[in-house]
Amino acid sequence: MGITEELHEQQARGLAEIGSASDLSALDAVRVAYLGKKGSLTTVLRGLGALPAEERPVAGKVSNEVRVALESAVEAKREELSAAALRTRIGEQAVDVTLPGRGRPVGSRHLIEQIRSEIVEIFLGLGYRIAEGPEVELDYYNFTALNQPPDHPARSLQDTFYVRDLSGDTAAVEGESDVLLRTHTSPVQVHVMEEQKPPIYVLAPGKVYRRDAADPSHLPQFTQIEGLVVDEGITFADLKGTLDHVCKAIFGPDRRTRFRPHFFPFTEPSAEVDVSCGICGGEGCRFCKGTGWLEILGCGMVDPNVFGYVGIDPERYSGFAFGMGVERIAALKYDLPDLRILLEGDMRFLRQF
Ligand SMILES: [Zn+2]
Repeated sequence: MGITEELHEQQARGLAEIGSASDLSALDAVRVAYLGKKGSLTTVLRGLGALPAEERPVAGKVSNEVRVALESAVEAKREELSAAALRTRIGEQAVDVTLPGRGRPVGSRHLIEQIRSEIVEIFLGLGYRIAEGPEVELDYYNFTALNQPPDHPARSLQDTFYVRDLSGDTAAVEGESDVLLRTHTSPVQVHVMEEQKPPIYVLAPGKVYRRDAADPSHLPQFTQIEGLVVDEGITFADLKGTLDHVCKAIFGPDRRTRFRPHFFPFTEPSAEVDVSCGICGGEGCRFCKGTGWLEILGCGMVDPNVFGYVGIDPERYSGFAFGMGVERIAALKYDLPDLRILLEGDMRFLRQF
């Protein structure tokens, strides 16, 4: 085979290999195999000098044409492969603007706070205003002015956290301090009546403290909502109508209420209020322990003795007061088996509300 044929054969083979190179590195390998320092075309070109003088011009011209043909084919293929590689990379990195964004977790108000503000809204709608009082309270406001003077037996009903060092204290009762964590929100009633003359329509939500061990139905710190109304001509019917309305607003319009006689030192008469069971509708079930009723709050007509402590004339004014536990309402409304779950901060529970 003459050198011209060999060159043409190399060109045909080289062009075929260039055409089938699948990526840039395969293409470069083909280029080196033909056009590199030790490539097959280079080897042929080096051998031109050994040809007879009359053959050299033709062989030189053909070999140059073959080199140019291979080089331009490599260049064209390189551009083609680069463009394809770029398209692939763009495809891989592309942002799909139709994909939904990554959700960021959004916080929400705690269930206790939700119910507290729900109840506050109901009373604001009835024309009440919000009153507040200190959580660290004087014995006088927590007990004495609520008709529980130092020798009153009802004081032992409540287990109290005393704040001050008892030694050398001049507390009214031996072994107790005259500074304590309030055991109910009722002392706010006394503060309000000291500061304001009737008509009084206030709601006092806040934290209270009892020396109870936490168990499914008790917490050492919980949230109470106290209400107080003092005006001319207030009767037990006003109390019943108000609380019946509030229970329906909290639990639903189909729920009924009943009032059972009870005792509180600062109201007379006093009652506990039950709401009909939402699970059985009053028929009796395990949730309501077969009674058809759920106890939700305590209330009564303000004892005239309490008016005596704050200088309100019981001949002219009458009033009612009530107190409810927010955690208990949460438990009844959402069928919580254990109050402690409200304070554990378990996100699986909290996210449900
Ligand atoms: Zn029931």
